[in-house]
Amino acid sequence: MMSSGLLIVISGPSGVGKNTVINNLFNLRSQLKYSISATTRKPRPNEIDGQHYFFLTETEFQNRIKNGDFLEWAKVYEYYYGTPRQYVQNLLQAGHDVVLDIDVQGGKQIKRSMPEAVLIFLAPPSMTELKNRLRGRNTESETELTKRIRYIETEFESIPFYDYLVINREIDLTCELIECIIQAEKSKVKRIEPNLVKKILNS
Ligand code: 5GP
Repeated sequence: MMSSGLLIVISGPSGVGKNTVINNLFNLRSQLKYSISATTRKPRPNEIDGQHYFFLTETEFQNRIKNGDFLEWAKVYEYYYGTPRQYVQNLLQAGHDVVLDIDVQGGKQIKRSMPEAVLIFLAPPSMTELKNRLRGRNTESETELTKRIRYIETEFESIPFYDYLVINREIDLTCELIECIIQAEKSKVKRIEPNLVKKILNS
């Protein structure tokens, strides 16, 4: 029996619409908390340090790995990405539900160290649509795009490690489905606060 918050991992290939889904999810469930990752990738024009990511140098990132500051970390494409351990643990202990937008390597690490986490893989309806979306957003160079497209197959191979597969056909439906997953997971008897049943009986 556990009473801490739910750790929700959302992974999926670049261009699948993860950011939009996660933003919409936060509008629907304002009590959700987002874990801001650290990365060695350079910020994109619209990205703010401490809001979208904590942008670190490679030396800073390596030092944090040495200090055990990350709950998980991975090299995705050619950059490092990591989830701050203390921040996430504090939120969970305080009973908040926390969303991690991380890649499949990170998802697998989380499943191993925190099997109670809920892992959701977001997939596109088709590869054609995914490639079009990736090209359309104009945030990566042709070389980076090729790398990202090549990595997609590896990501799909990790689906069996996930608890849920959600196909992002239509944003509202996708968010509704993820909401249902969160609700169902939170209603699992093993997650219910031990005193709740007593409270109901005595009220
Ligand atoms: P982007 O560079 O497009 O923001 O992110 C690239 C990939 O890195 C995405 O699949 C994203 O989910 C993943 N990512 C972002 N933060 C983390 C993290 O803290 N850990 C891991 N393992 N992957 C992350």
